[in-house]
Amino acid sequence: MGAFSSRSDRQVDAVVIGAGFAGLYSLYRLRALGLSVCCYEGGSSVGGTWYWNRYPGARCDVESMQYSFSFSEELQQEWHWTERYASQPEILRYLDHVADRFDLRRLITFGTHVTAAAYDEAAERWRVATDAGESVSARFCIMATGALSAARKPDMAGLDSFKGRWFHTGRWPKEEVDFTGQRVAVIGTGSSGIQTVPVVARQAAHLYVFQRTPNFSIPAWNEPLPPERQAAFKAEYAAHRARARDTRSGILYEYSQRGAFDVPHEERQAEFERRWARGGANFTHAFNDIFTSAESNHEAAEYVRSRIRSIVRDPATAAALMPTDHPIGTKRICVDTDYFETFNRDNVSLVDVRRTPIETVTPDGLRTTEAEFALDSIIFATGYDAVTGALARIDIRGRGGDALKEKWEAGPRTYLGLAVAGFPNLFIVTGPGSPSVLTNVVVAIEQHVGWVADCIGFMEKRGIAVIEADEDAENDWVAEVNTVADRTLFPRAASWYMGANIPGKPRVFLPYVGGLHNYVRICDEVAAEGYRGFRLRQRAHAA
Ligand code: NAP
Repeated sequence: MGAFSSRSDRQVDAVVIGAGFAGLYSLYRLRALGLSVCCYEGGSSVGGTWYWNRYPGARCDVESMQYSFSFSEELQQEWHWTERYASQPEILRYLDHVADRFDLRRLITFGTHVTAAAYDEAAERWRVATDAGESVSARFCIMATGALSAARKPDMAGLDSFKGRWFHTGRWPKEEVDFTGQRVAVIGTGSSGIQTVPVVARQAAHLYVFQRTPNFSIPAWNEPLPPERQAAFKAEYAAHRARARDTRSGILYEYSQRGAFDVPHEERQAEFERRWARGGANFTHAFNDIFTSAESNHEAAEYVRSRIRSIVRDPATAAALMPTDHPIGTKRICVDTDYFETFNRDNVSLVDVRRTPIETVTPDGLRTTEAEFALDSIIFATGYDAVTGALARIDIRGRGGDALKEKWEAGPRTYLGLAVAGFPNLFIVTGPGSPSVLTNVVVAIEQHVGWVADCIGFMEKRGIAVIEADEDAENDWVAEVNTVADRTLFPRAASWYMGANIPGKPRVFLPYVGGLHNYVRICDEVAAEGYRGFRLRQRAHAA
């Protein structure tokens, strides 16, 4: 097996791959079980997504008081958030604090990518190899590799010849990048592009925004977090966390109990107005049928289009910025600060690359079918090989040397998003078939990791060596993931949720859209019934 060093492996109970929110919490929970643990992380420090996404304007669009760990009462009481929505530097400071506070850093090998993981059936152990030529042998392998971590630079002709600098939002350099006086292109108008455009526009001499598909975006109305509001939330923190966990997205939105047509037109508009004024993705929960009824969805979409029309002064630019090709919310809703307003600036131009596609990058810029653009820098905000991409970059082999990549050729198959038949003792955090990317991912991560740690704790207590998802249970779960998706409008969008942004990727709805609350209940039931749908095998000496 070429990927593995011939030196004798380091032996641990569990290896964790990735040191973002998921990896850090996995280390914390597994160490608490008394297991020996180690972790590999590609970055030079902790943070995962929040380590790499240092692009100007990077900010979370779940409110800071909610987008944080709940596992330690002291941590959540003592950490002070400064804004309604935390910026990337603040979240990274928080994760650095978590790593130090819980003494996790020394368990992690930084600057090291895992290249292969193979299950040795006779030894009942995973062998994990890295690009540093190390290998480790572990009973359990935890994939905390992230759902939006495999950055995707489109293969653009001519990029190697470009004399300026280019960046991907999800692989931003650590040093400050200053675009002052430059001619800059941003390619892509998803959440990352929409956040970076207003900030870069304030620096650049001229900013060209290359848009293929317009997106729906709701203003964040970010603001400093008043200490009294923070204190009031903290006084009820445990109750707020419990309530969030019992919602479909793990976020304390106002979930309406009414359909859009249960109320007259004026009342519907007033509700959209109120939600727009409050800001954030709460908007799409204005009525309870926005994700399931095309007519109700149309009303919400029309409202956002009318706002774009009223913000953007040039009617042609406004029209080009209005999304019409997908129901609102079926591509991840964006949350912005001054995005549409930015197109009123003299130094910003919108280029519709659906109408005039990019032909090639040139040494001096970029050429579309219609025009040449002289550029000093290009920012790719072109997204990720989402949910499965980071796993696909590791050669993962289960029983019999079978490759995960081959098993997932027609689309990923998991049981609960957490485990895969044929891959014993391997757990995925925020995997395909889990609600992760449709939720407050920190809440999902705490649930996934908590469930996995409880499962391993159960195995340790009962002398169980191996757990493996049953193929029937896996088939049923895959069917359930598809059934709940088909009840919604989500499959109508060519989104990364559907794998549609990656040429050749199978078109299947990747996350579980049945709601975090329902998912938690199912996972709890599975555990309570002695891990229904899993096969458990006793340790040889305990058998
Ligand atoms: P994304 O949503 O996949 O957006 C990528 C953009 O690049 C799309 O507009 C896409 O156009 C465009 N694109 C891709 N290839 C292109 C090409 N060859 N030529 C022209 N345009 C091209 O990626 P993202 O913005 O990085 O966001 C990914 C996810 O990360 C989000 O949906 C969200 O879940 C998360 N995120 C969250 C935050 C936050 O919380 N604030 C911030 C950033 C990211 P098409 O639509 O036509 O494919």
